[in-house]
Amino acid sequence: MNNECPMCGCVLCYTNVELNELLPCPDCGSDLEVRSLDPFTLEMAPLEREDWGE
Ligand SMILES: [Zn+2]
Repeated sequence: MNNECPMCGCVLCYTNVELNELLPCPDCGSDLEVRSLDPFTLEMAPLEREDWGE
């Protein structure tokens, strides 16, 4: 599945992502959130979110 980073426009390729999963952009480092799987949609993650600590 492919999508462009909403911040820097680089093409992102991810597999096996889940709804609401947080994905870091490898190019600009932005935290992106999966808002929809069909169609695949990424948005900037809320900045106020707490650090999950993985
Ligand atoms: Zn980016």
